Amino acid sequence: QYGDPKLLIPVLAAKHGVKAIVTCTDYEPYARRRDALIEEQCHKAGIAFHSIKDQVIFEKNEVVKDDGNPYTIFTPYMKKWKQRWQNHPPDIRKPAFNHLSKSLTSEIVSLQTMHFESVKTIFPEGIVSDEILRHYAERRDFPAMNATSKLSVHLRFGTISIRDLALKASSISESWWNELIWREFYMMILWHFPHVAGQSFKPAYDRIEWRNNETEFQSWCEGKTGYPIVDAGMRELVNTGFMHNRVRMITASFLTKHLLIDWRWGEAFFARYLLDFDLSANNGGWQWAASSGCDAAPYFRIFNPYEQQKKFDPNMVYIRKWVPEIFTPSYPKPIVDHKMARERVLSVYRKALND
Ligand code: FAD
Repeated sequence: QYGDPKLLIPVLAAKHGVKAIVTCTDYEPYARRRDALIEEQCHKAGIAFHSIKDQVIFEKNEVVKDDGNPYTIFTPYMKKWKQRWQNHPPDIRKPAFNHLSKSLTSEIVSLQTMHFESVKTIFPEGIVSDEILRHYAERRDFPAMNATSKLSVHLRFGTISIRDLALKASSISESWWNELIWREFYMMILWHFPHVAGQSFKPAYDRIEWRNNETEFQSWCEGKTGYPIVDAGMRELVNTGFMHNRVRMITASFLTKHLLIDWRWGEAFFARYLLDFDLSANNGGWQWAASSGCDAAPYFRIFNPYEQQKKFDPNMVYIRKWVPEIFTPSYPKPIVDHKMARERVLSVYRKALND
């Protein structure tokens, strides 16, 4: 049955004589409001409501500074996270649903039942080979290589266990382990600083005077900016529902810094197309690129798309795959000059930040 979960769940529970509702804790602002309302309804109806930590290893205040405040910088957070991992009681590594009946755990859905059948080629079975993890650190930035796990969509929809992955990561690849911790870092940021959903983490960045040119935005969305690495990324996204991480960084930087378009426009476009869309990671990634985020790229760091291309797709394998007309007259000229755009964004950011 489909409908508004806030209304439907309590009604269904009452109708079927449900005694308890168990859910995985969700850290997004909308989900927090939704679950609080459902819990309230359940209590009124005498139905127990349990929200269980399942999508992360550590949540909320489990990894905070010694003074109890949340971390806003990744590296110290990651160190404390690993310290807790070493010291935490062993039962945290067991599935969260362990204490529930087997029949319930066996009903945890797969991607196939969620109609992800058509994207099986991009997001395979939900396992990652040791080979990929062993070479992750040196190969992860090359979009033409099959060198990252492609597990994001499974993590997003809960069709894989974060506990299994963290155990595997801890023994094979420090740098891949750190990526799993970035995921929790951004979820923790969203939990403690829910204003990031809509506003800059650093308020001064909401003074930036975005140009927000709609024609340029359209060119970016369609992969027709005349910057091959940017266009390849945007076409990969629209055609597959996925984009390689390095290219997500490049396209996001290009939109915010080269075109001076509000990061929220890009964030919304990614949210619409990414199959692994996750508010905390997407928002974190966009605010990182726009420099408005907690542990973000400094504002004066402006990716040079040509240099990025030379470094990470030197033989243009990725670019040729997505932009086959690259060397023909039908490929557009750059919609903006790199040098001019660089100077322009520096001056606009400086003005907003009074730097
Ligand atoms: P791997 O490199 O194999 O990493 C393993 C897992 O770690 C990923 O599946 C993901 O769950 C997590 N992870 C890796 N990098 C990050 C990161 N920077 N932040 C948070 N978690 C990370 N990731 C999403 O899951 N959903 C999003 O909506 C999303 N939007 C992004 C938007 C921008 C602008 C940027 C720069 C990054 C975004 N990311 C997002 C992070 C990252 O690009 C993807 O997680 C990654 O590309 C997924 O591919 P993979 O599974 O092969 O990752």
